[in-house]
Amino acid sequence: MTDRVPPDAWDRPDPADPRDRTFAQALRDPPPDPPVVLLGLPFDGAVLGRRGAREGPAALREALAGMKTSRLDRHRTAIAAADWGDADLPPEAPVDEAHDAAREAAREARQAGATLVALGGDHSLTYPLARPHAEAVEALGVVNVDAHLDVRAVDGPPNSGSSFGRLLRDDLVAGPHLVEVGLRDFATSRTYVDWARDRGATLVPAAEARRRDPSSLLADLYGGPLEGVDAVYLSLDVDALDQADAPGVSAPTPGGLTSARFAALAREAVRQAPAPVAGVDVVETAPRHDPTDRTARAAALALAHVLAELPGGSPP
Ligand code: MN
Ligand code: MN
Repeated sequence: MTDRVPPDAWDRPDPADPRDRTFAQALRDPPPDPPVVLLGLPFDGAVLGRRGAREGPAALREALAGMKTSRLDRHRTAIAAADWGDADLPPEAPVDEAHDAAREAAREARQAGATLVALGGDHSLTYPLARPHAEAVEALGVVNVDAHLDVRAVDGPPNSGSSFGRLLRDDLVAGPHLVEVGLRDFATSRTYVDWARDRGATLVPAAEARRRDPSSLLADLYGGPLEGVDAVYLSLDVDALDQADAPGVSAPTPGGLTSARFAALAREAVRQAPAPVAGVDVVETAPRHDPTDRTARAAALALAHVLAELPGGSPP
């Protein structure tokens, strides 16, 4: 069992205005049996592209800490989540060690009946995070918001471009139960596009995700390919954002989503889920490549919407 390092991001002075309530306050004061738990996975040893995602968990917490927990359409949003801290991984942890930590945490959260929201870290981590859920239910539906398909075939150790291919090849997720949103032209080889389509996956290009109303897009996905699934796993690769909104990722890519659209897709993916949301991850934030911190703030906006929609996030 991998040790965990307690987070210090939530230990900060309360807002000057006592009417304000922040995520730092909510996460410092979790309920006894939290329906949602956070875990940082500071690991980028399997990344394809630039390193730096190991610093993602700290940057995501920092960006989230000062945000208010209320939404404009609600008087107040109660956030019922606990933070398990970061998996205690050395900077050059082997892939196996990081993946074991991810899988153990997903299993532990599942046994506790809580939704694990994992803060990455690189995208190789989705495979071990989703696996315990895929093994426990008949049909796991997977929604991946990403510029890339991540269905690469790997001979050696897994990499950040292979999680969804592994889930399908290992028969953990049925091809038609994989939906990928935010995909770019000129970012994936034809072989992999054909492979995913042949397996029955639904591929939604970024152009379509930008054009369509996020609510109706998710309604169509959940009423179509993901209808009848027993649980949903949501993966949020921050490179789905346009590189203008998210320069601090392993693989910045043009032609992508705005921070508003990315957050709306995350929110609707949780809000409209036709089955329990078993797990969520927010991956590939690499703050060292973004001195403006806009990437972490955009990722934290999506994270805030996810936390507000998960169980416990309903109004008091
Ligand atoms: Mn990607
Ligand atoms: Mn990815």
